[in-house]
Amino acid sequence: MTSNIQTPALTPETPAVAVPTFAEIGLHPSLLQAVIDTGYTTPTPIQAQALPSIMAGNDVMGAAQTGTGKTAAFTLPILHRLIPLANTSASPARHPVRALILTPTRELADQVYESVKRYSRHTPLRSTVVFGGVDIGPQKEALRNGCEVLIATPGRLLDHVEQKNVNLSQVGILVLDEADRMLDMGFLPDLDRIIRLLPAQRQALLFSATFSNEIRKLGRTYLNAPVEIEVANRNATADTVTQIAYQMSSDAKRAAVVHLVKSRGLKQVIVFSNTKIGCGRLARQLELDGVRAESIHGDKSQADRMKALESFKSGELEVLVATDVAARGLDVAGVPCVINYDLPHTAEDYVHRIGRTGRAGAKGEAIALFTPSEEKFLLDIEKLIKTTVPRGVLQIPGELLARVAPREARASAPGERPARSATSGSRSGERGSERGSDRGVDRSARPSRYSTPQKPIDEFFTKPYEPSPAAVAAAAQASAAPAKPVLGVKRPVGLLLGGAFKKS
Ligand code: AMP
Repeated sequence: MTSNIQTPALTPETPAVAVPTFAEIGLHPSLLQAVIDTGYTTPTPIQAQALPSIMAGNDVMGAAQTGTGKTAAFTLPILHRLIPLANTSASPARHPVRALILTPTRELADQVYESVKRYSRHTPLRSTVVFGGVDIGPQKEALRNGCEVLIATPGRLLDHVEQKNVNLSQVGILVLDEADRMLDMGFLPDLDRIIRLLPAQRQALLFSATFSNEIRKLGRTYLNAPVEIEVANRNATADTVTQIAYQMSSDAKRAAVVHLVKSRGLKQVIVFSNTKIGCGRLARQLELDGVRAESIHGDKSQADRMKALESFKSGELEVLVATDVAARGLDVAGVPCVINYDLPHTAEDYVHRIGRTGRAGAKGEAIALFTPSEEKFLLDIEKLIKTTVPRGVLQIPGELLARVAPREARASAPGERPARSATSGSRSGERGSERGSDRGVDRSARPSRYSTPQKPIDEFFTKPYEPSPAAVAAAAQASAAPAKPVLGVKRPVGLLLGGAFKKS
């Protein structure tokens, strides 16, 4: 079942409205060539609206959910406006920073940079990206060589400003990408400092998943009579994403992930955890369960984060366990499924998380695993997205449940308590702020804990399910005794033999 919310349509069912082509919009021929090289044929709705407006020099406030093609919606017209100023001179002085794109996270900065590089490949325009967590030296070098387009996270950009590696006095276009996230992460003071360094006469573009009151205030402060473009209902989930929620005990969640991945042969699943500690632990435990998994969160070095992302993109990993830092901006084509291992405590985060799947019109599935005590978060989410997430019953083979539970204790370090459920409330400090992670020291020299993905541990995952003698004995015993509530639901005897859960 899919949600019934109207969203920007990239699907074939889109009603045929007269969408202008990229050529009709008047995009510069060298950009048209890059668009053709990339394989785009028709502008997405946000592109159809934003391109002409930005090309005309307007300030724009764009509300677009993830996966709508918003990166090209601002990078293409920016490049179009910069082409008349482009030159082939080797002199850095002839390549001042003319467009500054600020993003909240390193991953998003890198992805925007990749887009800018791709679209500008037939032009002499130079671009570079700077973000924290990596050696500042090569970035300094790149800045000193000159670049017309600079993509940056705010903290690291200010480091470069302090070191006088960059001059922002000729910036004519400013972009605040995922501005809502920048506010959430506490970047407002950094933004204020950066914007004071820019010429007063400039074009400003602001993109945000939603237009909250804070975002509107930001728009009033930094933008001049902006054209507002909103292609999606606020807080809408894409109608290409099928949503489902399974209730279970926290102890059953890991078995559920293993079961979903293995029984459906899923590749490239993003599993969201609420805490950095929970995220790393879950990835390690999944590896022990025979699932090729890695984690990505703000405490990992940039080198490890990039490595995990690359392995995930190349299909080497079955699962990428992520905190919300990865929920925004990650553009991995064709993620078939997103699993919320913990339900986010902020309903908007759910929209961003499941926006990782069903991108650019592809089909996607968003699965939520929730305990009875987490149901309140699901209700908040449903209120926000104005739709009911269908509840399902997940049949996890009893043997898998039995296998995964004892490993909990084995995986714990000596003296450590068995892994707590990530859903039983986060310890203070566990979550840790991702803010500030774009500044600071180079941690890339830290040894990577990335390990070669394991093969499934045994033939359990490939052979058909057969009840173990212990399970059969337990079933016989259970039939003599009244059923005990297990996994937050009453488990009938048949479950041990592969039967269904019954809602209590
Ligand atoms: P974004 O919302 O910018 O992260 O883009 C989401 C995905 O849509 C990316 O994989 C883009 O490559 C893809 N995309 C962007 N524009 C188009 C287009 N006009 N046609 C098809 N795919 C697109």
